[in-house]
Amino acid sequence: MALHSTHLNFGSVRLLSVQHLTGLPGASRRSLDRAPGQGSRHVEAGADIIGIGDPAASLVGPRIYRDFVWPYEKKLVDGLHSMDARVRLHICGNTRLLLEDMGRLGCEIVDIDSLVSLAEARQKMGPQQVLLGNIDPVRVLRDRTPESIAAAVAECHRQAGPAYILGAGCEVPRGTPRVNLLALAACARSFAPGLADAVTMSAHHQQHPACSPEPPGGA
Ligand SMILES: [Zn+2]
Repeated sequence: MALHSTHLNFGSVRLLSVQHLTGLPGASRRSLDRAPGQGSRHVEAGADIIGIGDPAASLVGPRIYRDFVWPYEKKLVDGLHSMDARVRLHICGNTRLLLEDMGRLGCEIVDIDSLVSLAEARQKMGPQQVLLGNIDPVRVLRDRTPESIAAAVAECHRQAGPAYILGAGCEVPRGTPRVNLLALAACARSFAPGLADAVTMSAHHQQHPACSPEPPGGA
């Protein structure tokens, strides 16, 4: 089954800041309330997974997040679920203090930035939560080699365990070498048991040992 994914830029903190600074609570609240409606148009257009990007939510402390941001995110997630969509949540930056609350949103996928350890996310959100991430998009994916990426992938798998999707911790920056993106994709496929093109990948690994499914150093 092919899954189609699309993305909503939620920006709850920005809108709540506008509300605070301008004293226009109605305007900002209406913007937040419109978010599920935007999602419904994505679903009607064929999206199976809606990505919620609330990039700046890590800039507030856990209490403000819990009291003023989480309820809007929850409303959005529940609204998308009522449309039979699956939901991926991404909050940029260091979300260590928000992890437990993020896990309570009920998203099918939580996309973790590279500033947070996947091991801690796993511990805070439990074994059932599908985690996505969190290769450092700049210091590893853009600036290092395919060999470094393979090592980072192995470490992500080690920390996240099952229920895990490999990906960059945030947006892939301009200037990322094509060979590095291909290495990331090859590593992702090589860790997927039963993949249809496993034979093809096996041949690939012979030519590109850096993408070997065996973590560097064995084990
Ligand atoms: Zn991000």
